[in-house]
Amino acid sequence: MEKDMHSRNLEDSQKPITSLREEWPLMPLRGMLVYPGMVTPLEVGRERSINALEQAMVSDRMMILAAQKEARVKEPEIDDIYEIGTLVEIKQLLKLPEGHIRILVEGISRVRILSLVQSDPYYTANIEILTVDEKLDRETEALMRSASSLFEKYVKLSKKLPLEVVASLDEISEPGKLADNIASQLLIRVEDKQQILETFDVKERLELLNVLLSKELEILELEKNISTRVRRQMDKSQRDYYLREQLKAIRQELGEDEDKYEELEEYRQKIEKLGLSPDTKEKALKEVSRLEKMPPGTAEAVVVRNYLDWIIALPWKTETKDNIDIIKAESILDADHYGLEKVKERILEFLAVKKLTKSMKGPILCLVGPPGVGKTSLAKSVARALNRKFVRFSLGGVRDEAEIRGHRRTYVGALPGKIIQSMRDAKSKNPVILLDEVDKMSSDFRGDPASALLEVLDPEQNNAFQDHFLEVPFDLSRVMFITTANNAMDIPQPLLDRMEVIEVPGYTEVEKMQIALRHLMPKQLEAHGLKEGDVEISQTTVLAIIREYTKEAGVRNLERTLASLYRKAAKEIVAGREKPIRITKNNLEKYLGVPSYTFGIAETEDKVGVATGLVWTPVGGDIVSIEVSVVPGKGGLTLTGKLGDVMKESAQAALSYTRYRAEDLGIDPDFHDHKDIHIHVPEGAVPKEGPSAGITMATALVSALSCKPVRWDVAMTGEITLRGRVLPIGGLKEKLLGAQRAGIKTVLIPKANERDLKEVPKEILKGLTVIPVGHMDEVLKHALRVKEEITFND
Ligand code: ADP
Repeated sequence: MEKDMHSRNLEDSQKPITSLREEWPLMPLRGMLVYPGMVTPLEVGRERSINALEQAMVSDRMMILAAQKEARVKEPEIDDIYEIGTLVEIKQLLKLPEGHIRILVEGISRVRILSLVQSDPYYTANIEILTVDEKLDRETEALMRSASSLFEKYVKLSKKLPLEVVASLDEISEPGKLADNIASQLLIRVEDKQQILETFDVKERLELLNVLLSKELEILELEKNISTRVRRQMDKSQRDYYLREQLKAIRQELGEDEDKYEELEEYRQKIEKLGLSPDTKEKALKEVSRLEKMPPGTAEAVVVRNYLDWIIALPWKTETKDNIDIIKAESILDADHYGLEKVKERILEFLAVKKLTKSMKGPILCLVGPPGVGKTSLAKSVARALNRKFVRFSLGGVRDEAEIRGHRRTYVGALPGKIIQSMRDAKSKNPVILLDEVDKMSSDFRGDPASALLEVLDPEQNNAFQDHFLEVPFDLSRVMFITTANNAMDIPQPLLDRMEVIEVPGYTEVEKMQIALRHLMPKQLEAHGLKEGDVEISQTTVLAIIREYTKEAGVRNLERTLASLYRKAAKEIVAGREKPIRITKNNLEKYLGVPSYTFGIAETEDKVGVATGLVWTPVGGDIVSIEVSVVPGKGGLTLTGKLGDVMKESAQAALSYTRYRAEDLGIDPDFHDHKDIHIHVPEGAVPKEGPSAGITMATALVSALSCKPVRWDVAMTGEITLRGRVLPIGGLKEKLLGAQRAGIKTVLIPKANERDLKEVPKEILKGLTVIPVGHMDEVLKHALRVKEEITFND
């Protein structure tokens, strides 16, 4: 309502009161008041007020207005109304919809309300009219000027009143009226306004007004400061926004893709955060600039983008905190693995040295052993013990240097090498990286992966590893590399020199049983969502699985077979079969089908021309029956089975020995002229490379030519020379294990290998008679079944 309350200045404020009465209709005002001399619009809605108004209209249009102390009070008593009010004349009256009335009143004079006479149907009051003396001295004039100028400032600052109201003040010469006029315009509390009304002395009234104005100005000033501060802050972000929008518009005008720029900006920001070395950062930012200049969607842009994505994905500075706590490492290794005491010990020693030297420099661990013996899981445990990330990749079949070192970006679809890929997967600068099958790399015209790997593993060079794709050096010095191999012999020599080889041998049946019971079965049970007591697999069943369904040095197939048992059991449980599902030796076939391997040895009786050898295979030791048949002919030698060159040479050597010793062995010395010899090594699926079958071939040959049977329960291993000396072989432990598994009783080994027996666990030797032999004659003595002992005369 106050908005259009531009009270006009009335010239005749001291107009005589035309009607004087005892009782006046009274209208309480809420949140406002009317000063004498002001014309003010009001809206009337309360019933009593309307009644009062009507009463005034039927008489002399005069009534009393007084402010309520509390605007909230609906039906005020005398105490709720200020004592000093205003006598007004109603100038205009307009009825509004909903029974409201709008009036225009003109203040005539200040009045004091003496008493309230009635309150219904409207208030009436006894009053006293107050007249005020308007003296104009210098001081008053000064106060007037000051009030006017303060008010002008107020209007300008508040921006809520039109400037004209200031101009209209010039026409007022009476100090009291000026004060009332200004006070009526101010947006201040009713209490303050009432105070002005109640101050009869004009000088005092002006002083009070000046105080109120100064106070208001101060507040306005403060408000202004705050808003400028806020605006200043807003301005900057608005400015940036505005500039960016303009930039967008310009790019749109130029027909450029604006998403591209957002992308470029994002690349730049990400690169800043990577913690790159200055050179690398420069290179990366240069690539972003290159991308900027390229039309989007071209093949080259795709290449650059791919490159940048790789840079961003790599852990340039992120790393996990190392925690080399040997006790904890030991408990983790023990918890994850049964047995392997020596291996664990070596690993812990290795870690202890790393801890003392505080560096990852030094030899690389290389775990050597057949598949499934826990090499990978040992490496995983090492990572867990060190609190490092773990990644692995296989070098098996890697023949191209680029697989290690990446392709140059000139190739379409080029990628970084496996090392950098692993670093990305690890998301940390210091993971444990397991390089599987280092012995299975090969090199050809595409470069030598082994030499690239050498650089990766070399602590002197790998802090600035060069990947062809990346083009910038990457620091691998914090990485802990662990390698695995099936056969240390096949690791390229320069690589082997850098490694600390730890042999992880195959397991005996007893060990396998323990691993199955303690680790594999609980693990698989959980993996298949089963609970203890759901499935029962007895120890004899496990042993049957080990013997008849797997044939391996490790436990990988054992684990797989157990997994398939649990899978089938889970299916039965879901199908509603009663728990527990019992798997016994008798119903094993129902679950796993017929056994894949017959336990025991192929031969169970002595045979002529058939000797049992021991071989090393990647899945552990095994036995092999070598057969020789002699037929009439012209001295030909035929070899069948999957034989390598080395084995063929062994066959030749065996033949030469036999000819050399023919007479002593009771063999026709000229057999070579009229006999053809055929040597067969069956079970060709398992590669049997190596010279260690030499004495076996010779035994079978002698047996065939002399018609003396070979004892079925004897197996042998050893290389043979032309004169019949027995030379040492490798993989003794695995071979003995194979013999034990096959039910062999006596094993002939080269004398030179005798000291290796110390390394062989007692369990394996249990039930085996191991006889070290130095010469072929001794071999024959033990292997051939003869009625009367052959006597050798050297
Ligand atoms: P490798 O890497 O030597 O081929 P893995 O590490 O993959 O063999 O082992 C195959 C499985 O056998 C894994 O589940 C592993 O946990 C388990 N395993 C192997 N050796 C042991 C052991 N000594 N104790 C417990 N589990 C073992």
